[in-house]
Amino acid sequence: MRPFPAPLPAAAALLAAIGASSMTADAAPRTTFTVSMPRPSTHLFELVMEVAPFPAAVESFDLVLPVWAPGSYFVRDYARNVQDIEVEGPGGPAAVEKVEKSRWRVRPARRARGPFTARYRVYANELTVRTSHLDETHGYGNGPSLFLYVDGRKDEPYALRFVLPEGWRVSIALPDEGGAFLARDYDELVDSPFECGTHRTYGFEVRGVPHTLALWGRGNEDPERLVADLSRIVEAAAALFGGLPYERYLFLVHVASGARGGLEHRASQSVAFEPTGFRPAKRYRDVLALFAHELFHVWNVKRIRPASLGPFDYTREVYTRDLWAMEGITSYYEGLLLVRAGLVEPKHALEAWGKEIRDHRQTPGAAVQSAEAASFDAWIRYYRPDENSPNVSEGYYRRGALIGLALDLTLRQATSGRSSLDAVLTHLHDEYGGRPTGYPEGAYEAHVSSVSGVDVSDFFRRYVRGVETPPFEELFARVGLAMREKPEKDEDEEEAGPKGAPPRRTLADLGWKTRTENGRIVVAEVYRGRAAYEAGVGAGEELVAVDGRKADGDLLRRLERDLAPGTAVKLHLFRRGLLREVVVPLGERRDFTYEIVPDPEASPARRALYEGWLGRPFPAEARPLDPPAGERLE
Ligand SMILES: [Zn+2]
Repeated sequence: MRPFPAPLPAAAALLAAIGASSMTADAAPRTTFTVSMPRPSTHLFELVMEVAPFPAAVESFDLVLPVWAPGSYFVRDYARNVQDIEVEGPGGPAAVEKVEKSRWRVRPARRARGPFTARYRVYANELTVRTSHLDETHGYGNGPSLFLYVDGRKDEPYALRFVLPEGWRVSIALPDEGGAFLARDYDELVDSPFECGTHRTYGFEVRGVPHTLALWGRGNEDPERLVADLSRIVEAAAALFGGLPYERYLFLVHVASGARGGLEHRASQSVAFEPTGFRPAKRYRDVLALFAHELFHVWNVKRIRPASLGPFDYTREVYTRDLWAMEGITSYYEGLLLVRAGLVEPKHALEAWGKEIRDHRQTPGAAVQSAEAASFDAWIRYYRPDENSPNVSEGYYRRGALIGLALDLTLRQATSGRSSLDAVLTHLHDEYGGRPTGYPEGAYEAHVSSVSGVDVSDFFRRYVRGVETPPFEELFARVGLAMREKPEKDEDEEEAGPKGAPPRRTLADLGWKTRTENGRIVVAEVYRGRAAYEAGVGAGEELVAVDGRKADGDLLRRLERDLAPGTAVKLHLFRRGLLREVVVPLGERRDFTYEIVPDPEASPARRALYEGWLGRPFPAEARPLDPPAGERLE
């Protein structure tokens, strides 16, 4: 890595004239888009699409806009933002008729190969990484929401030009040839988001490959430190896979109020952060984790992927049972990469995994929906959550991350460290990374077995297709770590008991989540099998009083802390405007997290597994373990 000390200018401002379709070196015709934004305050991108000539004269053809963006499994119907579409061809204007929600049929004035030029506008006023956004401060373009394709011709090369407001420049991961950015096909074109404006850019190299950090907006970030830390993350990923598979890479960052999220691409990532999100250290670790997550997707999902995830069908939902591996294993590695890069201490990663394991074990839906089922239903479950979601589902991010963790530890101990999830992913990348299509759906398990030599059929049956939870206590023990329950810190500890006394571990439990709406307390979620659920309280009801006292957040918190489990409380609730009374015998819940710490008694073999896994020395001064928390209590 070679971070440059000072900001570098991005690509020079492009004021390209709208001309004929550009030609590649081998003279293959390119369809060329010219994007302009003459009045950014209207949020309208203006697009001119010069369609490369057809091989033979056509009577009609279809223009199509994607309904979804790869990486975000939700039908967004981007066509609802398209307006003023018209097509010009030989003999004059063509007839344009909308035949489906995202499809326009074009009938030229006369049969011809071309040239055809489509002009249209796209309203872009939604600031997320999955949509496009244009105003006086910048233009962010997310390909699937902007670029039409000619049905049947997605495999052809494309070129992209910009006409920019004065003083603006563009950042994009596509190669720049004389003012035109070239894409080998439509997939690459729409996988290359762009940022136009006066954003700051910082260039750096890792293993001789140029990387750019583009920052729009300002917050409490430290760009020099970001460059240094991103370099280390990239290097850790390159070390795992034995190199970088791209010729350049763009970190496209939005810093804006209300912003949070990321979307992966083959040679770039779009991520968004709150202006205050870069400090203190704990929040900065989350920032780095998001960068690491989206970077890891360069390999896992953009190159290692099931067949349905590239090349893409943009017209409808595509299905795979492996999103737990694409997203979950990526989530697992975001923590692992940061540890290996030396940016996060192992204890922080272990603490985060401990919380995930606790939450997983406490989610009722985890016993109902498998990781494969959650993957398949992403379109209607994960992306469309409702009040019943926790009872019937568990997101494939968390569950998949825990499966990745368990699978990695299983492979490492079964092979005494000779194989691992690293080896599986490296193999899958070598095998499929360069292929035009992904691996056959259903082949993942067989690859894990053949690479590692470990029979994982039982593992997949129980934890991937089934709803069992891996035995984490046992798995961590094999790498020299002890995992056990630890009481959560109680904010009111001093009030609850004499200072120094062990914090309480058992709380009364209503088994619901509430939210405040205009000062009213509304029941948001009611968890299956717990107190409120069993007493018949439903999500959406407004809580007005508890035991005759006006309900507020403080009262609810004190109630769970101060009352004994089993106590009956009388709730007054409004359901569809009618007041009703419900008596709820309080349940009981333990308030804890999992502590995962080095075991000073761990054998040299187990210590070696730890070091091979985290890439860090086993703590020399592992402190003697306290007696298990349970022995000190009650
Ligand atoms: Zn992801």
